[in-house]
Amino acid sequence: MIAAQGFRDKTVAVFGLGGSGLVAARALVAGGANVLAWDDGEKGRQAAAAAGIPVADLSSVDWSGIEALVLAPGVPLTHPEPHWSVAKARAAGVEVIGDIELFERTRARVSPGSPLVAITGTNGKSTTTALISHVLTAAGRDAQMGGNIGVPVLELAQPDEGRIHVLECSSYQIDLTPGLAPSVGVLMNISPDHLDRHGTLENYAAVKERLVSASRTCVVGVDDELSRAAADRAEGRGQEVLRISTRGPVRDGCFSRGSTLVVAAGGVETEFVDLSGIASLRGAHNAQNAAATVCVCRTLGVADEAIREGVCTFPGLAHRMQVVGRKERVLFVNDSKATNADAAERALASYERIYWIAGGKAKAGGIAPLRPWFGRIAKAYLIGEAAREFSDTLGSEVEHVVCGTLEAAVARAARDAAEDSHEEPVVLLSPACASFDQFANFEVRGEAFADEVLKITGHAPGQEVA
Ligand code: ADP
Repeated sequence: MIAAQGFRDKTVAVFGLGGSGLVAARALVAGGANVLAWDDGEKGRQAAAAAGIPVADLSSVDWSGIEALVLAPGVPLTHPEPHWSVAKARAAGVEVIGDIELFERTRARVSPGSPLVAITGTNGKSTTTALISHVLTAAGRDAQMGGNIGVPVLELAQPDEGRIHVLECSSYQIDLTPGLAPSVGVLMNISPDHLDRHGTLENYAAVKERLVSASRTCVVGVDDELSRAAADRAEGRGQEVLRISTRGPVRDGCFSRGSTLVVAAGGVETEFVDLSGIASLRGAHNAQNAAATVCVCRTLGVADEAIREGVCTFPGLAHRMQVVGRKERVLFVNDSKATNADAAERALASYERIYWIAGGKAKAGGIAPLRPWFGRIAKAYLIGEAAREFSDTLGSEVEHVVCGTLEAAVARAARDAAEDSHEEPVVLLSPACASFDQFANFEVRGEAFADEVLKITGHAPGQEVA
């Protein structure tokens, strides 16, 4: 754990005592701060008390002696309206920051030269964060991965010379990190999302752009207009900018041409790596993630051969188009993270002949937007609450069956796929739905899928008998 520096003997309020808030409180205590922790829920307060952190009702304390409010990223800072703790802090002139700001202040004090890679974007953050981390680790570097990807940043090892922190940053976290100054900042893409928390698309884009404008080197996806404009502005300010694209060539950066990633420097192009055959990096969206990784790792001085090696050995992230089994020609893919049609679309676009398991707790809009991909679906196996609605949408266009449970769906889909003469039929769980009607969360759903697949294949992926 990192001891948060800069608040010794000062009083710091911490609101929001889920995973990262609790760690922030502990890190502040370790750094010598007097912490006052609070959460609207009893559970968080109990967890803090059990960890020996002083709990105090922040709605009734005197804010004049408080140095800062450390807010959990899930708590509204601005939209739809500031949380009451934010309002109290603002009224008392107290700064509102998050755990990544604590990290940045600590890094500036204990090891200002140690590199920070920060990744943001609407989609692909986790995959890119994990891929960068994997390549660095495989190349023998000391990479510490955390942030929005799940491990609270302050739980990682302390900044140190030669140690690289790789942090996924949500826009909420950027909002709470005024001192963010990455060595390499990555902006993958911007499309409408989370507008409930940021008001307008322009505001959401501006928050994401802040990560780039604070970076020494910027890696920016230029396949959407807002990100492209951010790259141009960064260049205009004289920053070093590497562009990534899956749509066409760039002058400096990395782009995909077919399945090949091409590195460009001053307009001179060099073929870098062929992504075909890397099961964990299928699809144009993953080419974007890999292109960002190539730029970041080259900037950090990793040898080209080591980057290629790392990209080719990426195991993939669990529940995101994750290959969990193969039986003869049939591939089994767990994309349980696809909890809406937009995410499911990436998976449908990545395979040719699909035995599609979908359904769960329906999201607004259903699967009608997926119609352009219906031709790839050999048959659909519908589960959960959304089964009837999905059945109506698929109608006579796509052969389908209502299976009810995931277990029944996997068994039927595997049987049908085995009889298909296509070179690689895919049994795909990409539900386009939340999981809560039948599972605790998307992870539990994905694990249940993998368990069923294991019953069919009899072995874990990578242990296939040749
Ligand atoms: P995030 O962390 O930004 O939510 P993930 O890496 O977890 O992104 O991927 C979530 C889903 O988003 C994936 O299952 C995939 O469907 C889609 N996705 C991944 N990378 C990209 C990308 N670069 N562009 C668009 N969509 C992507």
